[in-house]
Amino acid sequence: MLKVTNIRVPVGEPADRLADFCARVLKVPPTAIQNFRILRKSLDIRNKGRLEHVYTAAVDVPDEPRALQKAAGRAIPYQPALFEPPNPGPELLEHPPIIVGAGPAGLLAAHQLAQMGYCPIVIERGRSVRERSRDVRIFDRGGSFDEKSNYLFGEGGAGTFSDGKLTCRNTGPDTDRVLEILADAKGKPSILYEAKPHLGSNRLPAVVKALRQQIIEMGGTIHFDCRLEKLLVESGQVVGLETSTGYFPTRVVVLGIGHSARDTIAMLNEIGVPIEFKPFQMGVRIEQAQQRVTQVQYGKSWQAQLLGPADYTMNVKAGTQEVFSFCMCAGGYVMPSVSQEGYFCTNGMSRSFHESPFANSGIVVTVDAANVADSGFGHDPLAGIRYQAAIEKKAFELAGGDYHSPIQWARDFIDAKPTRDQPPSSYPRGTKPMNLADFLPGPIAKLLADGLLLMDRQWSGEFLEGATLVGPEARGSCPVRFPRDPVRRESIGIGGLYPIGEGAGYAGGIVSAAVDGLRSAKAVIARYKPFHR
Ligand SMILES: Cc1cc2nc3c(=O)[nH]c(=O)nc-3n(C[C@H](O)[C@H](O)[C@H](O)COP(=O)(O)OP(=O)(O)OC[C@H]3O[C@@H](n4cnc5c(N)ncnc54)[C@H](O)[C@@H]3O)c2cc1C
Repeated sequence: MLKVTNIRVPVGEPADRLADFCARVLKVPPTAIQNFRILRKSLDIRNKGRLEHVYTAAVDVPDEPRALQKAAGRAIPYQPALFEPPNPGPELLEHPPIIVGAGPAGLLAAHQLAQMGYCPIVIERGRSVRERSRDVRIFDRGGSFDEKSNYLFGEGGAGTFSDGKLTCRNTGPDTDRVLEILADAKGKPSILYEAKPHLGSNRLPAVVKALRQQIIEMGGTIHFDCRLEKLLVESGQVVGLETSTGYFPTRVVVLGIGHSARDTIAMLNEIGVPIEFKPFQMGVRIEQAQQRVTQVQYGKSWQAQLLGPADYTMNVKAGTQEVFSFCMCAGGYVMPSVSQEGYFCTNGMSRSFHESPFANSGIVVTVDAANVADSGFGHDPLAGIRYQAAIEKKAFELAGGDYHSPIQWARDFIDAKPTRDQPPSSYPRGTKPMNLADFLPGPIAKLLADGLLLMDRQWSGEFLEGATLVGPEARGSCPVRFPRDPVRRESIGIGGLYPIGEGAGYAGGIVSAAVDGLRSAKAVIARYKPFHR
């Protein structure tokens, strides 16, 4: 089999001509192409007069050595690296392993453990995805906030109503396996090869539900409305959990609590689980007209009309510090990324149709330990959480205390003057015009303003044209890390505790969290025999 790269196909060519373009690269007749499979598909928009899809494909041809020679470096022999779970280890488990948190990290860890016969128990503080979908709809329409069931807590974790972008910097068999599991669980096959795979928040609930059903069919159990309240440790070894619904004995806890379980992180810190500060991102979310973004990115050619709404990534240097875009949602909605009563922060999502007239994206800077200490929040491991929380609380209060989002014209933010009229926004609960710098730390507001101007320059004035800012965008990443052994993947200092995913500080996104969960499940498998009930 050959891997053929850089197969360039102009946008607008019928899909069934793809193999012909591949044949041209290999200089063989189209009939010689067999078992054609797309490995990767991306879009090259550098030349607005000729937009091209760029494919990598795996194919069989009758005379491989000759095709390799003719392809002039654009084909290589291909042997796919396959995912292989480890052989089960020798240690005995008296009780099933427990996974705390049914986000992408926890669900994928549970899936792998269930598949290998470990009968994992998943506990999740929130509700099932069906009830949760109803709860967030009620909230969006102005209903009261539910600390148990919201955009961050509940089955599927923060991933469920996320944008569903499945991009991930990791590559290799573990990542491929995660994407295969997601595609198989009511995802879609194209996520296996798209350079920017996207499911959308409308599809994710079905994926999450299918994953749960598979875990249960393979011997796992899931408890909703069940919150970890205390980790029980004896002589440096996990021995069980106290939860809101009772006691669970276990010597293996896979901890996938996400970055917003501030109460649980505080409890773990108090009982002596090693936790350290981690730099994190802070900023605002920009909203622009999607049509403008698409025109800047794709141009106005007939080819551009065939593509859906465009996205972008931005990265500029304001002085020595980077200001960058984060979680860009084409044709999307700003939503409240809130898990605690009395705090406010934004994030974004889109559905698979990208139907909203707005584009939105986080615009953030990195906050380090010195920035946090300089702002008076101290040096301890939880200082970053207090820093985030203080900004979120202030934003909540300044916007009137009803989860309305602070909003400001981007130009007003740069000119340091409050917005007085009511700009448009996709945010569902209503917005409150103000000056976002009233709740952002001064140095962060200054960096963001400088960065936005540089971005605008890159887009010849189109980036800020008609753009608004909402925020704070405070939870783009986790402000703590749980140090762990790189091979055994256990917490350093607490035997049997496997911190995973974004909340542990080892992931930043759906797929990276899921891969992290899968890898820790492999570490558990390599150590213990399967647990049989
Ligand atoms: C609005 C939004 C949009 C996003 N868009 C994208 C995107 O497009 N692409 C992308 O890759 N990433 C996106 N992300 C980020 C992504 O969702 C997270 O990186 C990912 O969900 C992290 O997975 P996780 O399993 O580590 O944690 P989480 O998904 O946060 O899951 C943690 C789970 O643990 C549960 N939990 C917490 N404490 C306890 C406890 N004490 N007891 C029991 N259960 C507990 C929580 O209820 C939650 O369900 C988005 C996030 C948000 C909020």
